[in-house]
Amino acid sequence: MESTIEKREKALKVLERLSSFFNKEQGGGVKGNPFLVLLSALLSHRTKDEVTEAVTERIASRIKGPKDVLKMDIKTLESLLYPCGFYRKKAKILKEVSKVLLEKYNGEVPDSLEELLKIKGVGRKTANLVIAKAYGKNGLAVDTHVHRISKRLGLVNSKSERETEEALKALYPARFWASINSLFVHFGKNICRPISPFCSLCPLLDLCDKVGLNRWR
Ligand code: SF4
Repeated sequence: MESTIEKREKALKVLERLSSFFNKEQGGGVKGNPFLVLLSALLSHRTKDEVTEAVTERIASRIKGPKDVLKMDIKTLESLLYPCGFYRKKAKILKEVSKVLLEKYNGEVPDSLEELLKIKGVGRKTANLVIAKAYGKNGLAVDTHVHRISKRLGLVNSKSERETEEALKALYPARFWASINSLFVHFGKNICRPISPFCSLCPLLDLCDKVGLNRWR
C-alpha cells in the first residue's frame, strides 16, 4: 500500500502528465463575467459541453446580469436556453437564482463557496466552478468524471463526490485545485471513459491501479 507521500507524488504526476498530454496550463482559473460563469455552470448539468458553450455564447449578447434574467419573460428565457437538457427547469432555476442575487447580494455573484452554497439551486460543483473560473480562487469541482477517474487511479477511496472533493483537497496543494476539473473531464471524455476506457492509449497507465475495472481497450 502506498504511503501518503507516495500518493501525493503520484497525484502530482497525474496532473503533470495530463497537462502535457492535453497541452493545457495547470493552476488558476479563467476569469470572466461571474454571472455568465454561474449561468454556464448551471446550464452544463446533463448537457454536452458544446451545447452549453454555444448556448452561453448566444445568451451573452442578451444577458449580462441577474436584472436581464428577471426582465425577460419565462418563455423567451426557455427558448434562449434550448437545446440544453432540462431547459425549462433551468430557466426556472435561473430566475430564482437571479432573484436571490438581486435581493441578497446587490446583484453580484458571491466569491465564496459558503455564500454560493446558501443560494437554492447552486450545488457544490457549480459553486466550486464559479470561484475557480470567475474569481481565480481555489475551487475543486468534482463531477462524475473527476470522481470515477480518481477512484480508478487509486488516488481516493471514496463513496461520494463530496468525499472525493475532500480527499483530493488533502492530496493536492490548493494552487492545483482549479485545474483538476477541466483536465479530468477532458481526459474522462476522451480516454478514461466510463465504460471500457482506452487504457492502451493512456498516459497514466503505469500510475493506474485500475480499481473496479473489468474491461478496457
Ligand atoms: Fe483510466 Fe485506464 Fe488510464 Fe487507468 S489506465 S486512468 S483506467 S484509461
